[in-house]
Amino acid sequence: MQYVSTRGHSGRKQFCEALLEGLAPDGGLYVPETYPRVDHATLDAWRTLSYANLAFEILSLYVGDIPSVDLKAICAKTYTPEIFGKPDIAPLRKLERGLYLQELSNGPTLAFKDMAMQLLGNLLEYELDRRQENLNILGATSGDTGSAAEYAMRGKKGVRVFMLSPRGRMSAFQQAQMFSLQDHNIHNIAIDGVFDDCQDIVKRVASDLEFKQQYKIGAVNSINWARLLAQVVYYFSGYLQASERGATSVSFAVPSGNFGNICAGHVARMMGLPISRLVLATNENDVLDEFFRTGVYRVRSRADTLETSSPSMDISKASNLERFVFDVLDRDAERTRSLFADQLGERGSFDLSGESRFAEAAARFGFRSGRSTHADRLATIRDTWKRCKTEIDPHTADGVRVARRHASSDTPMVVLETALPVKFGATIKEALGREADRPERLKGIEELPRRVKILPPDVQAVKNYIWGIVVDAIN
Ligand SMILES: *Cc1c(COP(=O)(O)O)cnc(C)c1O
Repeated sequence: MQYVSTRGHSGRKQFCEALLEGLAPDGGLYVPETYPRVDHATLDAWRTLSYANLAFEILSLYVGDIPSVDLKAICAKTYTPEIFGKPDIAPLRKLERGLYLQELSNGPTLAFKDMAMQLLGNLLEYELDRRQENLNILGATSGDTGSAAEYAMRGKKGVRVFMLSPRGRMSAFQQAQMFSLQDHNIHNIAIDGVFDDCQDIVKRVASDLEFKQQYKIGAVNSINWARLLAQVVYYFSGYLQASERGATSVSFAVPSGNFGNICAGHVARMMGLPISRLVLATNENDVLDEFFRTGVYRVRSRADTLETSSPSMDISKASNLERFVFDVLDRDAERTRSLFADQLGERGSFDLSGESRFAEAAARFGFRSGRSTHADRLATIRDTWKRCKTEIDPHTADGVRVARRHASSDTPMVVLETALPVKFGATIKEALGREADRPERLKGIEELPRRVKILPPDVQAVKNYIWGIVVDAIN
C-alpha cells in the first residue's frame, strides 16, 4: 500500500515515510491510495482474535514496509491488559437497550488518545532505530494530547518530547499527570500565556526550516496517518462485539473535535465494515455540525472559539476534515487543494452546498451530526448515572446526547468513550454533586514531585531551551 497527498503534489510514499513526515510536503494529508476491502468471511474469521492480533491484521493491509513478524510484535507489545487496564482492551458496556458505550479510556492517561498514541510510540521507536535517527517531538497541548504523547514516548530510545502547555490553565489532574513524569526524555514547558500562545510558538519553531532540520523537530499531531489507522481498529472491535448480539450493522456516535476519531470510522466503513451511521457530536463549537447540516465549512476566529466544559472539543477548525472532503469530491486533489489552500486562506470558509456530490455524501457515507451544550452535558451525565449507573465524562456525554437523537430501534448504537470522568472533575462535581471515581493507581498524583520548566511566551526562549537540552545530550 502506498500513500498520496490530498493535494496531489507529494508523490507516492511508504507507510513509514508518512509516519515520520506527518503532514505531506504540499501541505495536504496522507491517505492510502485505495481502501482495502474486508469481506464478510474475513470479518467472521476475525471474531476470535485478541485485540492485538486484530490490530495486526488491519495494520497489515496498510503497512508495506515493516516485516510481518516485527509488526506483529509491535502490536502485541502495545495492546496489553497491563497498559490498557482491561483484558479485552476496548470492551463494550451496555447503557440501555440498543445503546452501548465502547470503553477506550482505560489506558495510561485515561483518554482514547492512548489507543493510537501508544502504538505510535512503538512504531516511531522501531523506525528511528532502523534508520539510526533521532526525533525531537515538539507539541502544544491544552490537556489530553500532550499527556497521551508523553506517556507513549517516555523512555523510548531516539525520541525526546518538548510539550508546551499554558501555565496554570489545564485541570489540576491533567497538570499532575504530565508534570509528575520524571523520564529524562520528557520535557514539560509551561508557557506564561494561553493555549494559542503555545500553538503559535510551535508553528513558528516548525516554520524555521533550518532549526527544524538541525534539531530534527517533528510532531505527533492528529493528522498523522498512523494515529488514524490505529483508531480504525476499535471500530472493527466494536462492530464485532455488538454484532455478536445479533445485529447485522452497527452505528457509532463520536464526540468530535479535529475529526480524527470519526475519520477513522469513515475509513473502517470504506473498508466494508457494516456501519450504518456515523453520528458526529460537537459541543458549542459547532464548526463540524454546521458543515454537515449546511455544506458550509467556516473556520472560527479565536474570539469565536468558546471555552466549554468539554474542552478537548474546543476547536476553531477541524484538521482532519480534508481527508473526508477529498473522498466527498471523488478524490479530486486539485479541487481539494483549491478549497483548503486557497479558499480557506482567502476567506476562512468554503461552501459545498451547491455540489450534488455533497448532497449525496451524507447518504453515501452515512454521516449524521448534532450539537450539545453545557446544560445538555450536565443533564446527560446525571441521567446516565441515574438510569444506567455509569459515570461518563463531559465529552462522552456530548456523544450520548447526540446519539440518543439519532437512535433507531433496529440498529445498535455504540458511543465512543473518549475520556474518563476523573480527568474533568469540576464538571462531574457540578453534575453529580460529588467527586468523580478515580482509579486506584492515580490516587494522590497531585502530591508527586513535578518536573516542569516555566518560560515566557517567546519563540527564542523555547528555541534556546531545546538547543540547551539537545547540545547537553551530545556532550
Ligand atoms: C481529542 C479528544 C476529542 C476529539 O477527538 P478528535 O479526534 O479531535 O475529533 C474528544 N474527546 C476527548 C476527551 C479528547 O481528548
